[in-house]
Amino acid sequence: MAEADYAPLFQHGPDRTDYERLGDGGVVRERWRGRDWLIVPRETLADLAAEAFARSAHLLRPSHLAQLRAILDDPDSGDNDRSVARALLHNAVIAAAGALPLCQDTGTAVVIGEKGEQVLTGGEDVAAFSDGIARTYATRNLRFSQLAPLSLYEERNTGSNLPAQIEIAAGPGSDYRLLFVAKGGGSANKTFLFQQNTALLSPERLRAFLAEKVATLGAAACPPYHLALVIGGLSAEQTLKTVKLANCRALDNLPESGDASGRAFRDRALEAEVLAITRELGIGAQFGGKYFCHDVRVIRLPRHAGSLPVGLGVSCSADRQTAAKITAEGVFLERLEAHPERFLPELDECVAPAVPIDLTQPMEGIRRQLATLPVGTRLSLTGPLVVARDKAHAALSERLAAGGTLPDYLRDHPVYYAGPAKTPDGMVSGAFGPTTASRMDGYMETFLAAGVWPISLGKGNRSAAVADACARHGGFYLGTIGGAAAAIARDHIRSVETLDMEELGMEAVRRIEVVDLPAFLVIDDKGRDFYRDRAPTAA
Ligand code: SF4
Repeated sequence: MAEADYAPLFQHGPDRTDYERLGDGGVVRERWRGRDWLIVPRETLADLAAEAFARSAHLLRPSHLAQLRAILDDPDSGDNDRSVARALLHNAVIAAAGALPLCQDTGTAVVIGEKGEQVLTGGEDVAAFSDGIARTYATRNLRFSQLAPLSLYEERNTGSNLPAQIEIAAGPGSDYRLLFVAKGGGSANKTFLFQQNTALLSPERLRAFLAEKVATLGAAACPPYHLALVIGGLSAEQTLKTVKLANCRALDNLPESGDASGRAFRDRALEAEVLAITRELGIGAQFGGKYFCHDVRVIRLPRHAGSLPVGLGVSCSADRQTAAKITAEGVFLERLEAHPERFLPELDECVAPAVPIDLTQPMEGIRRQLATLPVGTRLSLTGPLVVARDKAHAALSERLAAGGTLPDYLRDHPVYYAGPAKTPDGMVSGAFGPTTASRMDGYMETFLAAGVWPISLGKGNRSAAVADACARHGGFYLGTIGGAAAAIARDHIRSVETLDMEELGMEAVRRIEVVDLPAFLVIDDKGRDFYRDRAPTAA
């Protein structure tokens, strides 16, 4: 290709990030062969990564908090949207104190960088960033979530939250630009690739396709979401990487029209249309309403004539990404909001009262009470819960299949799908929000048939098979607010003890005592499903 034909694919406009200068970072500028070179100590990279992940575990962007506040200020918001927005703002205030992180899933650490060719670091950038990430996850009340495969089937927690996903590209100049992202598993699981073709490129077909796919996202990744759609891409990988960057709002300043070079652009008209679609889904901010999404980004990319990849993804209520840069002026990190209380109105809102559920009564009594309530009923749970998630379910399922005796805790108490972060000194519990319930769907028929955990508590929607199993065996599924893990820990958990499988770390089986834990009746023993009935197209 002639040089004149080349144009950058991503033509970023000016960087409008509000940065805070952390210091000089020991950065030295030297002039050699007529050019300025930036010499950056290895430790500066480690310190920057450590600081970025420490801050983003506790602090959110002011723009994200303003969007939560806008839900409270919108006269058209329903009670459920408001109560979730208020809970998330309250959670942000608790997390900002620096002890409990925003969410119990403190994420996979992702570092995306562009390093100017005149930046000299010694070449161990990935190791340096990893050192900083490991330091933060070890010394703060975060959670180790990464599993190392020891063989095809055996896994062990790495105990450091490493490995991190670190991708550094080369660029011109003498600046180092970075984006640090802490991505939770539930949020990452809502990234999708659809291999389409030219037939999709008509306004009606594209709208219908997007409406169908957006509805399938469901509520498991803790809405309200920042939603990103990418149409086109030179490869599947490029499409999905672009989804990730758009979710981080790192492509907000792209041009708003295409040109013959194939440059990427934002389509604001389609963004508005898709946002309107999300408002009609009925899922809302987790339990019905219109605030399924805060906003939508649509990016159009060039493509091969024979393929049309379409990418879809979300950033969840733990909207954790922090831009940074290292220049001759020093080390800079995006300013996050240290005082989220300024977004939270002082007066308590009026929301519909919750039905108190006494979990200290025998299981039959709890089931009888739940059976009298319509799905969508607000609940307030007080008493013991057993905590278990993926690995405990797999182990118990094997015990059940082998005909082994099962412990009483499987039948006496409801199960809460969760895995906490570390407990801060002087506190009863680490951040302790719900995990995605649908990952346990495959066990439900067998467990319910065996009388195991007839009541479950988690987040998000579940498969039709779970509703059917609940109808057959008298089961119930309750949802609690996802993304409010610091508030759940501080305001609603009174004790935590390990019951079984301690070796599983954050996935161990625990017994907790809760007080006034907010919940919703999502699926009842007649097979009625709050999400399916409100949003028939949502899976
Ligand atoms: S807010 Fe929800 S989806 Fe996001 S990291 Fe936390 S649990 Fe996962």
